[in-house]
Amino acid sequence: MGLKPENIQYLIVHHTATARDTTTFEAVKRYHVSKGWGDIGYHYFITADGKVWPGRSEDTVGAHASASSMNYKSLGICLTGNFMNEFPTYEQLQSLHDLLLKLMEKYNININNVLGHREVPKAATACPGDHLMEWISKFRQEKSEVKKSPDVAKAIEHIEQALNILKGL
Ligand SMILES: [Zn+2]
Repeated sequence: MGLKPENIQYLIVHHTATARDTTTFEAVKRYHVSKGWGDIGYHYFITADGKVWPGRSEDTVGAHASASSMNYKSLGICLTGNFMNEFPTYEQLQSLHDLLLKLMEKYNININNVLGHREVPKAATACPGDHLMEWISKFRQEKSEVKKSPDVAKAIEHIEQALNILKGL
């Protein structure tokens, strides 16, 4: 099923809930295909080495967050690991960070719409695990603070001054 760019309003982050270092893209894809999903359910998959594997194309509805019809308004990104009891690798987090920023810019997604799976309303899951959830919360906080940085505040002030000058003309 098609997913229109204007319908992509959320980025949903998952974990596989399996071993971080030995879970492979192929194994998860095989498992999802065996469930009759046609393809891996996620749009992106990040292994322990930080490699980003393209899953479904971005113009295809995913199979990763059925609660609240989230599949129809989001892209799904999954990291290998069970982050209830292990931590993502530095490489995974670096890749996730860059991918989130790239997709946020591409689809004009609000920072507050970057969610861990468990934050999707009515989703009853521990996914993406406490440790990755904590990182996502920090990512949101950090990116929101960037917007309110002194430089930005100064830029806004300059624009307002310029507008006032125009009004005075
Ligand atoms: Zn999930």
